[in-house]
Amino acid sequence: MGTFESEDLKRQIEQLTQQLETLRQENSSLKSQSQGSTEATSAPEVRSTPAESGVEVGNIQEGDITLRRLVQRIAMILQAEKIVIMFYETETSELVAIPPAYGVDDEKLAHFRVRATQGITGEVFREAVPAIFHNAANDDRTKKDLVSLFHVNNGITVPLIIEKRDDENRIVDRTTIGVLHAFNKRHGEDFNDEDVRLLERMAKNVGSIIANLQLYKAVMKEREELLQTFESLTSGLVLITPEGKISQMNASARAVFRMEGEVIGEHYTKVTENPHLIEFLESGLAGGEPTPIEIEIDLKATLRDYSVQGAQVRNEDGKQLGFVTIIQDITEQKNLDKMKSSFVAMASHELRTPLTAIKGFSSTLLDGVDHNLYDANDQKEFLGIIVGECDRLRRLIDDLLNTARIESGQSLTPNYTQFELSNILEKVVRVQNQASARHEVKLEIHGEIPAKIIGDEDKFDQILTNLLNNAIKYSPEGGDVIVHAWSEGDDKIKIGVQDHGIGIPKEHLGKVFERFHRVNNEDNRKIYGTGLGLFLVRHLVEEVHLGEIWVESEVGKGSMFLFTMPKEIDIEKAKELNS
Ligand code: ADP
Repeated sequence: MGTFESEDLKRQIEQLTQQLETLRQENSSLKSQSQGSTEATSAPEVRSTPAESGVEVGNIQEGDITLRRLVQRIAMILQAEKIVIMFYETETSELVAIPPAYGVDDEKLAHFRVRATQGITGEVFREAVPAIFHNAANDDRTKKDLVSLFHVNNGITVPLIIEKRDDENRIVDRTTIGVLHAFNKRHGEDFNDEDVRLLERMAKNVGSIIANLQLYKAVMKEREELLQTFESLTSGLVLITPEGKISQMNASARAVFRMEGEVIGEHYTKVTENPHLIEFLESGLAGGEPTPIEIEIDLKATLRDYSVQGAQVRNEDGKQLGFVTIIQDITEQKNLDKMKSSFVAMASHELRTPLTAIKGFSSTLLDGVDHNLYDANDQKEFLGIIVGECDRLRRLIDDLLNTARIESGQSLTPNYTQFELSNILEKVVRVQNQASARHEVKLEIHGEIPAKIIGDEDKFDQILTNLLNNAIKYSPEGGDVIVHAWSEGDDKIKIGVQDHGIGIPKEHLGKVFERFHRVNNEDNRKIYGTGLGLFLVRHLVEEVHLGEIWVESEVGKGSMFLFTMPKEIDIEKAKELNS
């Protein structure tokens, strides 16, 4: 990842953690606020147990339970059969019955919603003035909804009002958030003005609990969303409080530190013993902006490289809320860097070797001209070697150019024609057979193969030549090298290039097709190459011929590179892919 991208990511993460911390603080201030406000407005009647009135919205469940108890208590004090809370929903401009209710089943409750312009509910909500009614069946404001749904005879409806007070307990703002209904006085009695006053006082408690619960739910939801984002980032993130305790750690970070149990609240030294990382965190917690570091972590028995960056998380006033650490896996990037530098060494060697040969044989020939040292046969042999080495040079340069092209997203412009399959197989085998005296290169055709196929002949030749070159190169002891050809189903051909050479260790089988990837062990070290050949071959098989390639191999026994491709390539599809 480039510096620009990672800077960008760092900024995003800083913002994210800042939001998260602000929310956490909002959350806890909400807790203390909710306690304060309910106490300030509590009616003595409902304060018989402090746990109920001094509602601590430590969590939603607790708040819900407190509210439920309060509703029951109101029913008891007022001797009402039913109590219903309604909350104003801004999106629909409706008042909606919300749980908990008393004396009403949940299903009925769920159906009870009233437009803010309708009935007694609407009236009390709009005017924020309590109302009492004695004969619901004959009252226009109640007979439509309350009577039919809840069988209401009489009742009181009071507004649910939230009051904001300043430091001196003066009311600075009043908002009506809904209404509270008490229906049907027990024992055939009717509600009176004293009941209205009582209900009004208790509505203040109900109102503040609901307001806090709603706010709390909204904050929780926002926090949940942020946490999800945090959790799903591919970079590892760890947020540490100024006291050094872990307050957030996302899935990627937990994977890096192999943390399975609960880590939140642990001191960061429980998570890592890496001295560089600890030093980095210490410096960050001390308020500094430590320079990014790179560390190695042993992950499931393989060493992986990580870059570690950090940022201070501060609130708007600049107070330190914590320190966030961003951990990115840079193993692949580092491997590529390593491979690229070994590639440079290899490529220089690969360039120098043919040049040395060309220079050597041409100088020899030149010397020979004056003294007539070499006969026609010798000269032919020397010139043959020079031509061969020039070809090798050209191939290397082509490989380099083609790799650069593929890497930049371009394709190796295909040129599709119909050509004779066995002709080209025989030709390539013949050429390679001449190239090495120690190897016997053979062709084995299994069953019937199509006489002609459609593809890019030159590139097909290149695939085979490359695989055969490798087969010869990686069987230093010599032996048979066999090109196999089969028909695969009705519409494909399958080609295999088999050698009896050094083989490929299992863990490299999938990787040899990656650019610059070379097996680096005792057997291979003396065999030079750039690690580009198979990368190009794979491109030529998969992209140019819409085929598949893989390798089967056993160390010490040999390898077989296999590929399949359509016998008649869908030119339109291929062109689209390669355009
Ligand atoms: P190069 O041969 O230039 O290193 P390639 O991309 O052709 O690059 O091959 C990548 C690696 O795959 C080689 O370095 C070698 O380790 C391994 N390899 C390829 N072909 C064979 C083979 N026939 N037998 C054993 N190893 C092979």
